[in-house]
Order: sequence, then C-alpha cells, then structure tokens
Amino acid sequence: MPINDLPREILSDILLRATQLNEADGESYTYGLTQAPLPLQKAKLTKYWHDWVLSYNFEHVFERKWRGAERWAELTLKRPKYSIYELIDKPSGYAVYRDPYGSLKLTNELFATVPSTASHVRRLWFNGFYEAESDKLILSVISSCTKLQYLSVPWTILRRATAKDWVNLLNGNTGRGRPLHSLELTAVCLPEAQACSLEDDHTPNPLEDSSVDFSSLKRLKIFGNTLHKPVSDDDLHHIAKTATNLECLDFTNLSTISVAGMLALVKASRNTLQVLEHSPRSSDGFYHPYPGDLESGEHICELLANLPQMRDLSISIPYMCADLFANHDVKWVGELQVRATDVCGCDSNTSPATRVEKLSTTLESVRKLIAARRRMHSKLSAELFFAGCIFEPEKKIVHGDFALAEISSGGRWPEDKQPSTLGPYGQTGTYGKEEGFWDAISEEEYLYAVSRQWVQL
Ligand SMILES: [Zn+2]
Repeated sequence: MPINDLPREILSDILLRATQLNEADGESYTYGLTQAPLPLQKAKLTKYWHDWVLSYNFEHVFERKWRGAERWAELTLKRPKYSIYELIDKPSGYAVYRDPYGSLKLTNELFATVPSTASHVRRLWFNGFYEAESDKLILSVISSCTKLQYLSVPWTILRRATAKDWVNLLNGNTGRGRPLHSLELTAVCLPEAQACSLEDDHTPNPLEDSSVDFSSLKRLKIFGNTLHKPVSDDDLHHIAKTATNLECLDFTNLSTISVAGMLALVKASRNTLQVLEHSPRSSDGFYHPYPGDLESGEHICELLANLPQMRDLSISIPYMCADLFANHDVKWVGELQVRATDVCGCDSNTSPATRVEKLSTTLESVRKLIAARRRMHSKLSAELFFAGCIFEPEKKIVHGDFALAEISSGGRWPEDKQPSTLGPYGQTGTYGKEEGFWDAISEEEYLYAVSRQWVQL
C-alpha cells in the first residue's frame, strides 16, 4: 500500500514524527520534512506532502516586535578589503538600522501574494506592536487568514480599527472561511509618544456599530492594565449585546473593568459559559480583591450558582454568601476560587456575631457542595479569599497573618497554629513578591477570635 493511501490522521502522524526527528538534528531550512542535501547526492524533492508542510509551518504564526530598531553587525575579518573601517579605532561591529516592523511586513506580503500559505493559518499572535502603522499591518494579515481560529492582539486594535475591520476579524457572518473561535486582547502601559498618538486617534468605537457581531466567538480573554484608552465596562456592555455563545471568559490583571462589566457578559452567555476567570487585580495580591460595586445592588450568588454549563470558576465579587454554593446540581470541578470583600447582607453596622454566623454558614455550604460533587464522582476543592485570609473549608483551616490578633488576645490565642505555605499572593512567591509569614489555624479558632473581636472582618 503506497504511503499516500493511508488515512489522513495516520499519514499526518508519520509526517509529524519524521519532521520532529529531522528537527532534532537541527534542520530548519528544509521545513523539517526532507533531509539536508548531502555532498555528491542529488537532493530529493518532496512534492507529495506540500499541503501538509504548509499547514505544519503556518498553522501557528507568532509575531514579536524587535526590542530596538537597530541590530549589531559584527565586522568582517577581512578588514583591509573595506578600507573605510580603518578610520574607526578598534571597531568590532557597527549598529545597523533594522525595520522594527520588518518581519510583520514580510508576513503581510507573503500572505497577500501567496494566499495558499494564509489559508493554513489557524492561530495568530502579535506582541509588542502598538502603533497606527503596525495596527494596519496586523489587520491586513488578519484579513488574509480566512480560516483563523485563535487571535491574540494588542488592545490598540480595538481603538484604531473600524467596524468593517472588526466584522472581518470576527468573521461571523461573512460567508467565507470560518468564524473566529478565540480572541485575546492584551494591554500594557505605553511610552509617551505612543500613548499620545493613541489618545489623538478619533476612530469611532467599532463596538457601537450593530454590524459587529460576537455571537460566534467562544472564548474572550482580556489581560493587562493600561492607562491609555483601556478596555472598560462600556466596551463589555457593547460586546454583551451579541456575545451570546461564549464558553470561556477570562479577565486577568486589569482594574479598568468592574464586576458589572463582567456580569453583563456572564448574563449574555449564561447558557453556554463553562469557564469564568475574573481576577481583576491579581498583581496586587489577595489583599485587594475589590472588583467594584454593582449599582443595582443585585444578589449575584444565585445567578452564578445557576449557570447550567459552568465547570471552572475563579471570581472576584463584592459579596458572597451560602447561596453561591447552594445549587448541588452544578458541574463545577477542580479548584474553585472565590475572592470577596464582604458577606451578602452585611454593612458597617453588622455585629461581629452576625458576621460569624453568616460566614460559618457559608463555609458549611461549601463543604456540603464539595461532598455532593464527590457523590457524583467529581473532585471539587475550594479556596475562599476573604478578609485578608485564605479559607480552605474542606480542611477547616484558615491561613493568614494573625500577629496582631495574638497581641489583642494577650497571648491567649490561638491555642494551636502551624506555619502556612500560603501567603497574600497565593502560593509561594507568585509575582516575585515577599510572601510574609503566614500561619494556619483552625476555622473554629478563627471564628472564635472574630466573635471576641481580636480579628476584624
Ligand atoms: Zn449572596
């Protein structure tokens, strides 16, 4: 049986292994599939697997900006041939201008002139490009890749691209190629010149245009903080008008959107959402989980507990209570994380006794939910980040810095404590910050200290 008659998956697997073996020997200029030409041998031409090689090489395209516009070129050893160098004292090299968008331009040109290469692209990732010129080039590359599935772009695209560009980018109802599956917007703070140029741009917000349709998008991730035209709640409200089929929603490390914006999208995609990660200020550690207020004052525990497809939940919300864990029919698995600033229904006048009662009911309801999930053979664990501490309800343990409480109690409390492996930034040195010294105590002792007001909630 000729190898080309094998089923596609098997042939692809064979070619993949052959390529990896060739690449292990350092081959790259042959695109990995054929061997390097040997002396006295005619190089074999591989014509059968042209398509496979194209998809192998163009499936994922990563474009990163060169840090500077210059590159250091070593000087030739045959210097006498180039007499001008002799004017410089002891030269070893020379700074040569290099176009910072050189590779972006080449990619754009290749995809525009050889569409068969662009049609194999499934994932595009752009990093470090924040200027009007690069935004144009990025949009042009995107428009060539009609079967694009995963796209990661700077948020400046949201500000400088037109509604038409966005219709093209999401490719929902254009009738050519495939709609975009996953969109990531990343933001950073810009140097002054780039920031001014972005602030001076007056392109109308494409999200306000009704032709921009997010209904075929399955995954939306927004990452990183910026001071310049950041992604805001307003943007999310516009997106929520059409984003009705999201399966995964992820907001990490940005403080320009609040829980209200997040909820607009959760409500729009409530029947399809499976993964929700909302940790707006993760770089500040868990002392600052505050995700903003809800003007409506609505009770969101029930809404979150009743998302029919939800599997993976990690959220920062203003309030939580036992209702968040009351639905035992949820599909939640893995590690559940909830960061909250207070318990539902409490305010500055609430007595410590009431808070203790509500908090202990909440912790008990987490334990019941974990037990219910275990009966369904699903492993769920939970961490609650609350009042500067990390609660592990299943183990009935609370991690925190209790030095002041110890002093307040006159050294009588706690009866028992263990050194903790956790800290305000999570587990052991995340974000490279000092973790401080945390202790782990029992939930019972913690609640007792709250009722005696040694620990303030
Ligand atoms: Zn609640």
